[in-house]
Amino acid sequence: MSGAPFTYRRAGDVAEALAAGTGPGAAFLAGGTDLLPLWKARAARPSQVVDISRLPLAEVRAAASGLRLGALARLSEVAAHADVARGYPLVAEAIRASASGQVRNMATVGGALLQRTRCAYFRNDALACNKREPGSGCGALAGENRGHAIFGASEACVATHPSDLAVALAALDAEVETTGAGAGGARRIAVAELYRLPGATPQADTVLAPGELITAVEVPACAGARSTYLKVRDRASFEFAVVSVAAVLRVVDGRIVHVRLAAGGVAPRPWRLTASEASLAGRAPSAEAFADAAALAVEGARPLAHNGFKIELLRRAVARALRTAGEA
Ligand code: SF4
Repeated sequence: MSGAPFTYRRAGDVAEALAAGTGPGAAFLAGGTDLLPLWKARAARPSQVVDISRLPLAEVRAAASGLRLGALARLSEVAAHADVARGYPLVAEAIRASASGQVRNMATVGGALLQRTRCAYFRNDALACNKREPGSGCGALAGENRGHAIFGASEACVATHPSDLAVALAALDAEVETTGAGAGGARRIAVAELYRLPGATPQADTVLAPGELITAVEVPACAGARSTYLKVRDRASFEFAVVSVAAVLRVVDGRIVHVRLAAGGVAPRPWRLTASEASLAGRAPSAEAFADAAALAVEGARPLAHNGFKIELLRRAVARALRTAGEA
């Protein structure tokens, strides 16, 4: 690795991490599975690396009220945890669909949520990219944009968010717990609200303040709900979603009493399909109801030159995910 000099500091506790992590050019290092490739590609240029990997934030604990995942819990450990498999299979399913086994052994829950876009222009500093270099232009807008957004994009950036876990957590109404001096102390943010739409400032992916640290994820209990994570990708392993759908469905006496749908690969954040959800409330879980919801899922989509196929792909993926969850 070559580039500008940087300092390295291993934080002994959260207070030390916050003190070191709020300075300009600071970056938290946990599993390193996203930061290090970004650094090599010069899409990240930290002047101060704050190693948080030894902080005591790796718990995985289920209680009657829900599941708590420490931000530093490794993805492989979360997916294999008996309480997760039993009570929150959607979380395990989304993790298993993400990355390779080796990456999941290193990557953390917090890192998975904060990983940056896979847009090839972002990860190549010879190409124009407003997210990497504000004001330089968006190479993907008129360039290769097959993998880019059909919802929530702007003229400045049309990238999608790559996290499978975030899509599942958004469908489970999960929240992140954060702490940070710049954010006024501890706070909770719904995973679905953690990510910003790009607007004119795509360099900021999330609503986190500089130096604000995710400490845990809280997933409310969802007893009686059935779920599935459907990921459509270009190859069977180690590939990011072209389109994905997380579906959570609870049926009582033949009627849908709770439904959550979130899509990945289509927007700068997990894209909640609220119109589809509303259309299903109180209906019987039938093929007709699922087809109606799937049609609503793609309303308002704004495709680019190369990704119009995502509209039909999303429609079919929503219908299939609902059928799967309905049958589970
Ligand atoms: Fe950069 Fe966003 Fe455009 Fe990709 S889509 S080149 S990340 S500005």
